[in-house]
Amino acid sequence: MAGFTAFLLAFFIVNLCLYDGVWALTGPQIAQDLKKSLSAGSEVFLPSDPAYANQTTARWEITAAPTYVVAVKPDSIVDVQKIVKYAAKNNVSFLATGAGHGYTNTLSALHNGLSLDLGNFSTIEIDSAANTVKIGGSVRAARLIAALQDAGKEMPVGQCTCIGMTGFSLGGGIGPYSGLYGTASDSVAEIEMVTGAGEILTVSQSQHPDLFWGMKGAGFNYGVVTAITYNIYNATNGGQALNADMTFPGSQNGSVWELARSFVGNHPKELAITFSIQYNATLGEMAIVGNFIYAGPLENLTALIQPFLDLQPAALNISSVPWKDVASSALYGATNQGCAGTGVEYVPYAVNLYQIDVPSMVAVVNFMNKTMAATPDVQTAVVALAQYAPSGFQLHADASSAFPYRDAVIFAQIDGFAFSATPVPALTAFGASVRDLLHKGSGKTELQTYVHFAHGDEGEAAWYTEGKLRSLKALKAVYDPRGLFSFYNAVGRRGGNYTTR
Ligand SMILES: Cc1cc2nc3c(=O)[nH]c(=O)nc-3n(C[C@H](O)[C@H](O)[C@H](O)COP(=O)(O)OP(=O)(O)OC[C@H]3O[C@@H](n4cnc5c(N)ncnc54)[C@H](O)[C@@H]3O)c2cc1C
Repeated sequence: MAGFTAFLLAFFIVNLCLYDGVWALTGPQIAQDLKKSLSAGSEVFLPSDPAYANQTTARWEITAAPTYVVAVKPDSIVDVQKIVKYAAKNNVSFLATGAGHGYTNTLSALHNGLSLDLGNFSTIEIDSAANTVKIGGSVRAARLIAALQDAGKEMPVGQCTCIGMTGFSLGGGIGPYSGLYGTASDSVAEIEMVTGAGEILTVSQSQHPDLFWGMKGAGFNYGVVTAITYNIYNATNGGQALNADMTFPGSQNGSVWELARSFVGNHPKELAITFSIQYNATLGEMAIVGNFIYAGPLENLTALIQPFLDLQPAALNISSVPWKDVASSALYGATNQGCAGTGVEYVPYAVNLYQIDVPSMVAVVNFMNKTMAATPDVQTAVVALAQYAPSGFQLHADASSAFPYRDAVIFAQIDGFAFSATPVPALTAFGASVRDLLHKGSGKTELQTYVHFAHGDEGEAAWYTEGKLRSLKALKAVYDPRGLFSFYNAVGRRGGNYTTR
């Protein structure tokens, strides 16, 4: 009997570990099991392996990051299917990793899990005649846009080029050319995936159209995408765009918001506007940086932004850049710089605005000015307001996909950047207060937040809207019945607080 007890004890120590009060398979055990069953081209890494750091995809944000005991890089869709089935059978929590730039606090609920790293799915195949591009599930925007520019093509991409195209598109995917084409998900033609039910499926308008609908806006709820095909478009304006950056002192913010409001209902599809509200510690005052990206000739842009120029900005830069360099040029290059690197301390908050209410916006800037002057820990925070033309969003009916925010006027983000963990509590309190103030002037009583910009405490109705949740839940029951895909602002998750460490 004593021998049997000793055997059982040894078995548990080698194979199982008590994580968060639950017995779970150890990383070495999972690694051993998967190495046996996956194809030769697949790779399995333990965090203790020297290769883990440079062979697996690191996370951009660490403030609320998931933790892993093993990372697996499958080589084929069949390998992905095996991993999903293994994880389901053995209660191994996992997350598909594209480019690792997701940052919602709900990710911090994944402890001691498995990173299903799609790094081996990295091909880009452009078919210029058919106007399509097929990419692997981990391709980053930077590689795709360089290849599209070379081919004389374009499609909607985000403001930063390090993010994974698949992850971006599964939540909708918004950016400067959304005025022309809508969300990235509006351009998706076909998806190859393994569902949470363990099935390999090709999903499109004609194959599993119900799931196709859900994948375009809530896609990270239903499975792992190994490849995605987009419709692409001939380059606008010869593949060149204009980038205009200008800086205003905070004291002019009311005039800036009045001008921003004049574009509502009157916004040319070729123009994307972003405002960055930040604290100038040297001057001890707020600054508003306006960025205007225009897919057309200089004289047209100049006419559009003349009222802003008449405010005599303190700094001004206008340049012509290839489409692929739009992200790296905008806001004097600051937006894309924030995307680079990994291990960033970051506290996100966000809210969609459905109007520009000038007194509310002035109140936000006043609050920021007062709080930031008094609290050095929050002086690195930036409020970014993306005001895209509605025309692209309106090319597609609301019912065409799970993406629910075609009528948002501004996608507002409170970016709580920090150089260490120390300011995280102050940035959290600051971000929540600024979100509340922005929400008051948003034109909606309920909180609505673009799912990719969310903090994680908003809940499913804020990310997906009540109107879409019924269908999304029905899809969840069919395609992810065990709730394997539940760590990223998931359908079924209510609002509430999430600890960051
Ligand atoms: C600096 C920065 C700038 C950004 N700018 C924009 C912007 O301009 N517009 C915009 O819309 N968004 C923007 N985002 C948000 C971005 O779109 C999301 O963070 C997106 O999830 C990133 O995808 P990823 O593959 O890099 O991240 P990951 O962390 O790898 O993935 C995020 C989520 O998507 C899932 N996922 C990723 N790949 C796959 C796959 N192949 N199959 C199944 N699930 C997958 C993951 O499981 C996870 O749930 C920005 C993010 C950052 C950090």
